Amino acid sequence: MVYFDHAATTPMRQSAIDAWVEHAGALNAGSQHAAGRKANAVLADARERIAGALGADPVEVVFTGSGTEANNIGVRGLFDASELDRVVATPIEHPAVLEVVKSLGQTGADVEWLPVGRDGHAKDLSALDTPAAVATMMWANNETGAIQPVGEAIERATAVGTPVHVDAVQAVGHVPVDFHALGATTLAASAHKFGGPRGTGILLAKRSPAPKPVILGGGQERGIRSGTVDVASAAATAVALEEAIAEHTEIERLRDALIEGVRQRVDGVVVATQEPALPGHAHFMFPGANADALIMLLDVQGISVSAGSACASGVLRMSHVLEAMGYSEREAMGALRVTVGRTNTAQDVEAFLNAIPDVVERARAAGAL
Ligand code: PLP
Repeated sequence: MVYFDHAATTPMRQSAIDAWVEHAGALNAGSQHAAGRKANAVLADARERIAGALGADPVEVVFTGSGTEANNIGVRGLFDASELDRVVATPIEHPAVLEVVKSLGQTGADVEWLPVGRDGHAKDLSALDTPAAVATMMWANNETGAIQPVGEAIERATAVGTPVHVDAVQAVGHVPVDFHALGATTLAASAHKFGGPRGTGILLAKRSPAPKPVILGGGQERGIRSGTVDVASAAATAVALEEAIAEHTEIERLRDALIEGVRQRVDGVVVATQEPALPGHAHFMFPGANADALIMLLDVQGISVSAGSACASGVLRMSHVLEAMGYSEREAMGALRVTVGRTNTAQDVEAFLNAIPDVVERARAAGAL
């Protein structure tokens, strides 16, 4: 099997599995008795290590149940903490941010979208020069891998007192992230994107302004995210993150070979991934082919990739990301996202390149029927 869908999720690292198993018996870290203190010591260690890896203070690390939850708290929580009702966002955010922004718009917020160029990068940031309740920009796009100008966005928003949320779910563990140097108010990450367990998110949240909670409860995690913390997953996340940051991989070289190989072998291919971009992302459009057909034809050969367009309830839709970049529906419907990760080899790239010309030809023939 050739797995090229690491941006969807990447296999858990053995070190993270070991840490998870070691601490699976941990009890409630909020309890005062000895077992509680023991669990809390493991949690405190995980918090400290994650903070160290991401340039944050331990108190700024908030464990959540997913990257989606961390994003919801960041965006809605900062909005709720503000007196203003203006929101600035990019139109290429992941649904975990996009849907929150749209929902704020539906309940009266004044939403302004930043323009995005054909290369997938946010362009004119002048909307950030007017104060807002919250501005939100993803570090790197999950479909194309395009790295966004988050540094400049934060500088401009901060100059007028706007708090900024950064969805760094695709970036953490893949490119260096330093929360204090960045200057964001909140930042979301997700353990399963860097070899930790699925169902564990991290929200880095400055002391002030702190986001208001989106769910109410027992007040754990500074009251920002109530609910008993999963200590074993926190420990596994810390181990996975440290390992991800320390490793040197061939990911970028393999990805470049993959893009070059596809360009040479398939006529009319459009490569949407434009630098600066994440090292593992390769986003292709094969106009005239349908992504569903491409995925299935690759799947029968044991090659796993994903559609570069949004797929909800089995129905392929035009990607809002490609639409914002100015691509046509014909181009976008044949979009494939191939994401390289630490388990891939040169043989995997070769297998993909051997398969792709015939797969595209057959998908195009099917599309023409
Ligand atoms: N944000 C981005 C950019 C993502 O790629 C994803 C996952 O695909 C998420 C948020 C959601 O993360 P999770 O799967 O942990 O809820």
